[in-house]
Amino acid sequence: MEFESILLPGIDDKRPLVIAGPCSAETEEQVMATARQLADNGVKIYRAGVWKPRTKPGGFEGIGSPALGWMMQAKKETGMYMSTEVATEKHVYESLKYGIDMLWIGARTAANPFAVQEIADTLKGVDIPILIKNPVNPDLELWIGALERLYNAGIKKLGVIHRGFSTPDKTIYRNLPQWHIPIELKRRFPTLPIICDPSHIGGARNLISKLSQQAMDLNYSGLIIESHCSPDEAWSDKAQQVTPATLKEILDNLVIRDTIQTTEDLSDLREQIDELDNELLQLLAKRMRVSREIGQYKLEHHMPILQTQRYDQILTDRAAQGERMEMSGDFVKKVLEAIHSESVRQQMVIMERAKKNKD
Ligand code: PEP
Ligand code: MN
Repeated sequence: MEFESILLPGIDDKRPLVIAGPCSAETEEQVMATARQLADNGVKIYRAGVWKPRTKPGGFEGIGSPALGWMMQAKKETGMYMSTEVATEKHVYESLKYGIDMLWIGARTAANPFAVQEIADTLKGVDIPILIKNPVNPDLELWIGALERLYNAGIKKLGVIHRGFSTPDKTIYRNLPQWHIPIELKRRFPTLPIICDPSHIGGARNLISKLSQQAMDLNYSGLIIESHCSPDEAWSDKAQQVTPATLKEILDNLVIRDTIQTTEDLSDLREQIDELDNELLQLLAKRMRVSREIGQYKLEHHMPILQTQRYDQILTDRAAQGERMEMSGDFVKKVLEAIHSESVRQQMVIMERAKKNKD
């Protein structure tokens, strides 16, 4: 897939592309007041949820179409572009009818291929930028599938929003960032703009600054941040919304590292990395050879492949050793688990081969 720029006329090609506004459009006053303050602080693209997907019925499910009228009023007054979330054919028709400039597909909707297809079919022939949030579950293929559905409908001004992945575990984040997933997406589609949503990843105001900086350091194109004129009174997601003034402070404090040139020093260091990777692979191959010898021994002595007690001990000891060597224990565990599972696979091949020869 080759993508076209999502930049709207008059928006410069400078990182970060900023989209900001309240989680939800609540009242005409709130939409207007927030928009005026954001526009005064230099924000060019406004966001507001008009239809809100809620876990349980009975909560605030969004104002619906009348809020689109308020947003167009805000556009007229401030000159900002307007964006909102769509989940159904009706949402798309309504948003386009009012003149919304940019749409996004929410995380719950992105996880549902029928809904994404319905939106893609409705958007055929429409030439506005569409952003697709990552599905709530950490499924890169499902995310790419949603992109393909829109692309196949002729939408080329596409971008993605990384808003984190839901988890049953208690963590400091509302949604785990799992940075490796958007990084892999970018590796596969280098021209695809990625926008970070630190508000929904963090779920808390005090995490927005750090997450935004991390996204910039990973070369993301932009940020979508929830901002409300009185965050504590917001009707949805109040813990993660910031005032337009705080937003400005967060943006002003970002360090944008944009130099593309590779310095001499960097190429020296990269050569070292290449060499070390080479050594690592050779060492791994050697380790596998020893594993295969152990497999052969187990075969000859009728021993089972898996000896969990020893494996548990290895993981614990090595994780502790890794920590002493300034690596995270978790990382060392993951590496060893991967190595162990390849060892087991190789030993299984030995056992299977022996069985076949006997048969
Ligand atoms: C939102 O942007 O307000 C929203 C509902 O986000 P998500 O789809 O990421 O949960
Ligand atoms: Mn929200």
